[in-house]
Amino acid sequence: MSSNGNAKRLDAAKEAEVRDALLAERAVLAKQIRVLGKTSLVSTRSAGEELADVGTDDFIREMELSVMGEEGKRLALINTALDSLDAGSYGVCIDCDKEISDGRLRAKPYARLCIDCKSVREQNNGLPPEGVSEEELVE
Ligand SMILES: [Zn+2]
Repeated sequence: MSSNGNAKRLDAAKEAEVRDALLAERAVLAKQIRVLGKTSLVSTRSAGEELADVGTDDFIREMELSVMGEEGKRLALINTALDSLDAGSYGVCIDCDKEISDGRLRAKPYARLCIDCKSVREQNNGLPPEGVSEEELVE
């Protein structure tokens, strides 16, 4: 295990729990997207290959790129959350650097903004406050 020096907010058990929740949600989304036929990737694969590939990280990341709309956005948010888990920055608001409340993370495990910053952005047409670099995908 390497450490980048960041204090991890989550202990190992909690982290595993969050990761499971994110992966479960991602699997559901991936299935929905496939059912909706929103990705052309599927049609290039045989049925057997599809089954084997669904759930692999590469396939889902490819899918994320090819999918527009809410599902694709949520998929990207989930992938970002998984990355931040790995980086040890999960659960920290990207606007104010404060911890996102457990209740909010339970409802939206891929949330990147605390509830305060989320409502600030909502009142600001979805844009971040001044001085904060703009990230396209937030929840
Ligand atoms: Zn915040």
